[in-house]
Amino acid sequence: MKTVLITGANKSIGFETARQLLQQGYYVYLGCRDMQKGQQAVSQLQSAGLNQVEPIEIDVDDLDSIKAAREVLGQKTNVLDVLINNAGIIGSMQQTPLDTDISVFKQVFETNFFGVINVTQAFIDLLRLSPEPRIVNVTSGLGSLTLHSDPSWKYYQVKAACYVSSKAALNAYTIVLAYDLRDTAFKVNAVDPGYTATDFNNHTGPGTVPDAAARVVKAAVLGPDGLTGQFFSDDNAPETGISPW
Ligand code: NAP
Repeated sequence: MKTVLITGANKSIGFETARQLLQQGYYVYLGCRDMQKGQQAVSQLQSAGLNQVEPIEIDVDDLDSIKAAREVLGQKTNVLDVLINNAGIIGSMQQTPLDTDISVFKQVFETNFFGVINVTQAFIDLLRLSPEPRIVNVTSGLGSLTLHSDPSWKYYQVKAACYVSSKAALNAYTIVLAYDLRDTAFKVNAVDPGYTATDFNNHTGPGTVPDAAARVVKAAVLGPDGLTGQFFSDDNAPETGISPW
């Protein structure tokens, strides 16, 4: 049975990703920064008959928490097949490049960028023991620098300075990570789940959580012939599914 760790999986897209991977027979370590919320999420899945799941406490802003999670996971499994870096924050709603306090930039980068790097570095040894390791970085269509330079793009005016910058940085990290692991069985990709109604945006997104999670799952279950080093986005590129960076 393949194993997967999903950060920020106690609700929304991460939770639904857990559900869909459980339905595909994966064993899910459901990452949560609050064990009570994680346990509630696990109980919900178990009451639907999805039992191969347990919560793992992991706050991606806190290196000690990440290291503790690595220790705990190492006592439960010898190998991790899939890491899904899903936990993310948007920061405050008004994010202008000149007036937003640097503390907001730092907070958003802490979770969306440095958190992903810390988690990936902490779990890479367990992933290397998988015959088909997969890393999925949940990014945003808003992380595309190419599209942010195109005035005809439908989200051209959504210039949320901290969030956009953090996801563009995450995309860059995905590219260099995929390059570093290019001669291995790893598939490392960035996935935009699409603008989706969740707590993240006060449920304003037009997309549904099951559709968003399905996009993440697709990259998590890639076979040996699957692509690596890609930016998957059905929103940005409805025909090819591959977004410009
Ligand atoms: P959400 O409803 O706000 O859920 C975010 C999840 O991340 C929650 O479980 C939250 O835990 C967790 N989290 C936040 N900070 C964390 C931290 N420091 N450590 C561990 N967990 C943390 O967001 P969502 O809409 O599901 O978004 C999931 C991912 O998709 C994010 O990376 C987001 O950037 C990306 N995305 C979303 C959309 C969209 O329209 N929704 C579009 C593009 C990309 P708590 O419950 O404890 O707060």
